[in-house]
Amino acid sequence: MTTARRAVDAAPLIAETDLPPAAHFMDGTFVEPVTGGLIDVVDPCTEKVVARIPEGTTEDVDRAVSAALRAKGEWARRLPRERSEVLHSIADRVAEHAELLAGLESANTGKPLSVSRDDVAQTVDTFRFMAGAVRATTALAAGDYAENHLSVILREPLGVIGVVTPWNYPLLMAAWKIAPILAAGNTLVLKPSEQTPLTTLKFAELVADLLPPGVLNVVNGYGPVVGARLAEHPDLDMIALTGSVGSGRAVARAAADTLKRVHLELGGKAPVLVFPDADLTAAAQALRVAGFWNSGQECGAACRVLVHESVAEEFVRQLVDEVSQLVVGDPQAGEDVEVGPMVSKAHFDRVSGYLERARKAGIRAATGGEALDGPGYFIAPTVLVDVPEGAEAAREEIFGPVITVETFTEEEEAVRRAGDVPFGLSASVWTEDARRSHDIAARLDFGTVWVNSHLVLASEVPWGGFKGSGYGRDLSVYALDDYSRTKHVMHNHGR
Ligand code: NAD
Repeated sequence: MTTARRAVDAAPLIAETDLPPAAHFMDGTFVEPVTGGLIDVVDPCTEKVVARIPEGTTEDVDRAVSAALRAKGEWARRLPRERSEVLHSIADRVAEHAELLAGLESANTGKPLSVSRDDVAQTVDTFRFMAGAVRATTALAAGDYAENHLSVILREPLGVIGVVTPWNYPLLMAAWKIAPILAAGNTLVLKPSEQTPLTTLKFAELVADLLPPGVLNVVNGYGPVVGARLAEHPDLDMIALTGSVGSGRAVARAAADTLKRVHLELGGKAPVLVFPDADLTAAAQALRVAGFWNSGQECGAACRVLVHESVAEEFVRQLVDEVSQLVVGDPQAGEDVEVGPMVSKAHFDRVSGYLERARKAGIRAATGGEALDGPGYFIAPTVLVDVPEGAEAAREEIFGPVITVETFTEEEEAVRRAGDVPFGLSASVWTEDARRSHDIAARLDFGTVWVNSHLVLASEVPWGGFKGSGYGRDLSVYALDDYSRTKHVMHNHGR
């Protein structure tokens, strides 16, 4: 029986003085809300309120957008080198405060400190990569493509961008947007998840003196109010959201009237295809991490195994062995803690509901399958086996520490069933056969396909989905492209 390990007599993760101001950030400073109430920010390990932040209104959004509009001309005119230097100084500032940010992230999300530290390190790397990439952009060579006409391609910023971020990687998902948006010469207004605003506000506080006022603005509040106003705002040029499919639809609908661009990083349900010739031990060990990193609250999580029937028994044995060893606990319960709680009571209830319905449908948990004793929103790392094709647990995004295992007979069937979900974010293929790995990767309808790996990311390579997982790319030069526009200037030089 799994239990959540608790810290005994540990020093608090954060001091009262580490908290950011409970306010919106606009025009380079923290400001009081126009009106409105307060939102409780809860530590999911203790269920205690750690802070209260203002519930933003549409007026707050409009004020922030005005600040971003005022700032956009000067920021856009800066040379790539100058913007790059600012991004490097932001990376330095984040690195200097890495432990503070990691502690704050863990206090707000319950993540193991190792995960929060990784988030901060990736945040630093995202800023460093974008700082370099913006100085090395490429395009069609200037030249004559029509007789006597010289064509020059300009890459311009879009202008002002609205950003909405989720709760699973609060700081890192903000960085994935802020870094390329600023590098490309835009200004922005960002709404963090109302559940996890602390590291985004702290980030704004830490970098306030590095950016001209109005370039970065943060408005707290709920999606249907603050996020919706960003999506519909007539003065914004794009709305970028990382979140659920439902929020993506709402944002795209609200953006339609102004025809602003839309950038969506939505949910996932990553299939893991295990073929008979796969290294089963390597796959089981990798899934211990890739299925349960961030407690499975990860859009690319390796959550849906499709294993060939001839190796299913052995693979499940090894997977269950790995998963049942996972250390669950709160962030101060030791450096070896691998899995924390669900982020909120609502999400805990949602994940518990999936487990309950799977049980009622006769699906067996080979390990886990239940909630752990409180306080806190902990769920045991779970492997559901003998899952029938089309079962809810294998089709919908549970977003918790749950892996489902289905078996297949034919390769063709595996590819078809892998794609038989509304999502298309990521997938993995496990085989030692190079021809098979290439062929199957090419046929899978997912934005990222790993071969003999899962959930390995790098700032140089793009991240984003197909189908219900949205469109647009984070990370890499493709993100810089997404946050810029192309202008063609043609000179008639005939004489
Ligand atoms: P969510 O959609 O509930 O919330 C995301 C953000 O959208 C929050 O800030 C929320 O306030 C806001 N929002 C909600 N309704 C809105 C509306 N009508 N208009 C504008 N904004 C609105 O998602 P979540 O629960 O915070 O995050 C989990 C989801 O995010 C999962 O589906 C996960 O797969 C996805 N996600 C995807 C990626 C990716 O890169 N593809 C990364 C992380 C998370």
